[in-house]
Amino acid sequence: MQRFKLAARNEKSKNTVVAIPASGQTLYIGEGYCTVIAGPCAVESRDSFVKTALLLKEMGAHILRGGLFKPRTSPYSFKGLGREGLAIMAEARELTGLPLVSEIMDVRDLDYMYEQVDILQVGSRNMQNFTLLEELGRLEKPVLLKRGLSATIEEWLLAAEYILSNGNPRVILCERGIRTFEILTRNTVDIGAVPLLKQLSHLPIIVDPSHATGKWKMVIPVAKAAIAAGADGVMVEVHPDPDQALSDGKQSLTPQNFRILYEQIKKIADLDGKILV
Ligand code: PEP
Ligand code: MN
Repeated sequence: MQRFKLAARNEKSKNTVVAIPASGQTLYIGEGYCTVIAGPCAVESRDSFVKTALLLKEMGAHILRGGLFKPRTSPYSFKGLGREGLAIMAEARELTGLPLVSEIMDVRDLDYMYEQVDILQVGSRNMQNFTLLEELGRLEKPVLLKRGLSATIEEWLLAAEYILSNGNPRVILCERGIRTFEILTRNTVDIGAVPLLKQLSHLPIIVDPSHATGKWKMVIPVAKAAIAAGADGVMVEVHPDPDQALSDGKQSLTPQNFRILYEQIKKIADLDGKILV
């Protein structure tokens, strides 16, 4: 008997598909769909975010990401625009019709983020912030739960259990690499976690090759590997001018490289009969 109960595959015969209400049509994450989430690490300015959002929409991205509250290692690094950036994200959603995902770090931000953000992201550093998870479990809002920096797969599924057991079944897992002895990459991407999670759980799983590698040149190959391994999608960082990015420029794709990523993973999704529209 697994310690995770509601997340376990034997609890449900079908895989969970999380519905994301988007303007005009509903998007789905999970079984049979290949979802591409893209956007800058952080929302930096209105012009750059809106410009990036319009390009991403045109190139086929399904969901727009952007950090408002950045969990930076150093308190002196750029920590995001906070609440002020939310209006910029909302405008981009209005202009593109793309649903939004953004990280919530503090339950005190929940009220206003709930209104505007379509998927609430729990970042790696908060995977075991149990009070936050319980609060998100009481909502009717999809939650993107990233794997903790050094979390085992069981710890990760038990974190998901905190959301599920409070009544919210809309959990999407996100593998973003784990800390190992290897230092040439930012993290070590655990591709094996994807097929293992498909055996252990019915929850959708996406892969973030940007944080998993820390190097933009590795993002396309790792994204392809993720889809080939059975992931339900990828989340990648894209910046119009990565050298000037206020955070994570080294792992950010240019819009041109995002186009290549999209075309390449579409081929792999097609082989598996997955829908990537
Ligand atoms: C992010 O996706 O913005 C992020 C901070 O990633 P992680 O929590 O995986 O480090
Ligand atoms: Mn980032």
